[in-house]
Amino acid sequence: MDGRLLLSTFLTASLSVVAHASVDRPPQLVAIAFDNCTELERWRELNDFAAEMNRDGERVHFTFFVSGVNFLGDIERTHYHGPRQRPGAAMINFGGTLEDVQKRVEFAKELHRRGHEIASHAVGHFNGATWSAAEWAAEFKAYDGLLERVGLSAPVAGFRAPYLATSPGLYAVLKERAFRYDASRTALANEWPQEIDGIWRFNLVGLRLHGSGKNVLSMDYNFFFAHSRAIDDPSSQSLFRDQMIETYLDYFRSNYSGNRAPIHIGHHFANYQGGAYRQALMIFARAVCSLPEVRCVTYSMLADFLDQLDPATLAAYRRGDFPHAGPPNLNVARRAQSQ
Ligand SMILES: [Zn+2]
Repeated sequence: MDGRLLLSTFLTASLSVVAHASVDRPPQLVAIAFDNCTELERWRELNDFAAEMNRDGERVHFTFFVSGVNFLGDIERTHYHGPRQRPGAAMINFGGTLEDVQKRVEFAKELHRRGHEIASHAVGHFNGATWSAAEWAAEFKAYDGLLERVGLSAPVAGFRAPYLATSPGLYAVLKERAFRYDASRTALANEWPQEIDGIWRFNLVGLRLHGSGKNVLSMDYNFFFAHSRAIDDPSSQSLFRDQMIETYLDYFRSNYSGNRAPIHIGHHFANYQGGAYRQALMIFARAVCSLPEVRCVTYSMLADFLDQLDPATLAAYRRGDFPHAGPPNLNVARRAQSQ
C-alpha cells in the first residue's frame, strides 16, 4: 500500500466516524435451521423445546428445510419421479408408514401455527449441481404437489439445496417461483446477507473449530466429519459437544460485539455422535436466545427484517458503523442437559 492510499484510507476511516455516528445498533439475529427433517422424535423434541423457551415470550423460532419424501409413505414412493431417476427413487428414506407421515404433517402444521417456518430442501435429496432449470422446475412442482396432498398450506418462501449443490438453473427457477431466499451457499462469519437478483442469500459460514486449527462449516454434519470422518465416536462425545458449544459461542461473541452480522447455524434431525451435537445446539440456543439484544428467528423473519431496511442503514451495518456492544452476558448451562 503506498503512502497516498494509506492516507486516503485513514481519512475515509476517520471521516466515517465523524460523519455517521449514524445508525442505532441492530439486534443480533440468529437463524437456526434443520435439514431433511424425518425423525418424529426430533419433531417432538424441537416442538417441546421451542414451546418451553417461548412460554412467557417469543424467544426462538426455527426454520425446517423439509425434504419432500417425508410426506410420502414408503408404500406410496412411486408417486415421486425425480429428475433423471426411476419412479420411487430417492437418496434418503421416504416417510415410513402412512401413520408416520400423518404424525409428521401434524408436527409441521403445529410448528407453523406457532410461528416456525417450513421451507424446502427439495424432494428426493439428489445432487442437482448439473440440473437444468427445467429439471429444478420439475422438482419444485413435485414438492408443491406433495405439500398439497397432505394439506400443508404453508407458503414456502425459502430453499436449501441438498449437499448445498446448486446450478444456474436453480436460481432461475427460484426467481420464477418468487422465492424470497436461498440458503445453499457459504460465506464469511461476519458478512451481512446480500440480495442478488431479488433473492436473499442466507449463507452458512466458515468457522474455526474452537481450540484447533481446523475450519468447519456452521453445520452439524461438517463438525461430524471434521471430528471423526462422519463415524460415531462414543468415547469423545462430551468433548465434541463442548467443542461445538465453544465454537458457536466464539462465532456469537464475535458477531455480537462486532458488526452484528446474522448468525447462521444448520443442523439435521439425525442423531450424529449419539446426540452430542443436538445437546450442544440446545445449550447454545438457551444461552443466547434469551438475551435482550438477540432475536432467534426464522429465515423469513430475517428476510422481513432486511426488507424493511433502507440501503444506507444496511450499508452502515455491513461496515459495523454503529456503537458496538461489549461482551454478551452469557449463562451457559452445560450441565442442565444430561440426557
Ligand atoms: Zn440434506
